[in-house]
Amino acid sequence: MHDFAYHRPRSSAEAVQLLARSQPGARYFAGGTTLFDLMKLGVEAPATVIDIGRVEGLREIDASDRAELRIGALAAMSDVAEHPVVQREFTALSESLWKAASQQLRNMASVGGNLLQRTRCAYFRGGPEFACNKRVPGSGCAALAGVNRGHAVLGGSEACVAVYPGDWAVALAAFDAQVDTLSPRGERAVAVRELHRAPGATPHLETVLAADELIVRIRVPRTPAGRASTYHKIRDRESYAFALASAAVGLHLRANRVVDARIALGGVATHPWRALEAERSLVGRPFTQAAARRAAEIAFAQAKPLEHNGFKVALGIETVTDALMLARDRS
Ligand code: SF4
Repeated sequence: MHDFAYHRPRSSAEAVQLLARSQPGARYFAGGTTLFDLMKLGVEAPATVIDIGRVEGLREIDASDRAELRIGALAAMSDVAEHPVVQREFTALSESLWKAASQQLRNMASVGGNLLQRTRCAYFRGGPEFACNKRVPGSGCAALAGVNRGHAVLGGSEACVAVYPGDWAVALAAFDAQVDTLSPRGERAVAVRELHRAPGATPHLETVLAADELIVRIRVPRTPAGRASTYHKIRDRESYAFALASAAVGLHLRANRVVDARIALGGVATHPWRALEAERSLVGRPFTQAAARRAAEIAFAQAKPLEHNGFKVALGIETVTDALMLARDRS
């Protein structure tokens, strides 16, 4: 581990000013569950870390507003997962957190930091002997001709096919959540659906956030589909594993006709993947198992499997179909 400067601000305004003054090479951390891992592996080497864990006012889960749920970015994953309103009205969000990581990590990790976790691609984390455009721009991509079983079938490019590893962002994307950010230029709102970039030719640029921008809050609209929702996650083992395929799904049915449908995919794409065409195929029509299956197939119509991950297309279609049936049972 290399030497680095350490600061512990008390307010978000102080944190933002500190980070702006310490650029380049400064990073925020809250729970530290991603950044310290990557520092130990030598993937990240910030000159300054700004510990926002004690910043005041960013831990509240505010369910008092009739239009939206507001969650401070420093709220622990476990606190959000077990909040009664989140469980009842935003079921897929709660499940996405319960199915992520271990209990110890869920107690430490913040919901803001979770959005910014980096890929688990073994070549990215494996050290300088592997070519990786995400770690060293222009160096190549060892995964394209290497072992790519866990990589993306949607959203990849010739430069990078790494899967976005998170669950929470997938569920938030399905329900049109937004993040509020703070920087020296003021506050702004960013849709979670637009927060993560497709890799294109610049896979090292992972989000639309500026280097000095801090996520302070997550806001999720209340919807009938949120109440009849689920986060279905398929992995190699039932706990402590990342998704091979996952689906955040919600349905609003009236007399078995679909009023609203939400489908977002995880474990199969380079960024949280909203399947809008698949949603549109359901809306306005009677809900049936065949319609669910058809929507799932539409969600994967543009998939481009690699040498070792063709199974993800069939697995993803089953995952989405099963998730839609679960959501139907809850509606
Ligand atoms: Fe690096 Fe992306 Fe290739 Fe993995 S898939 S080696 S993260 S460029």
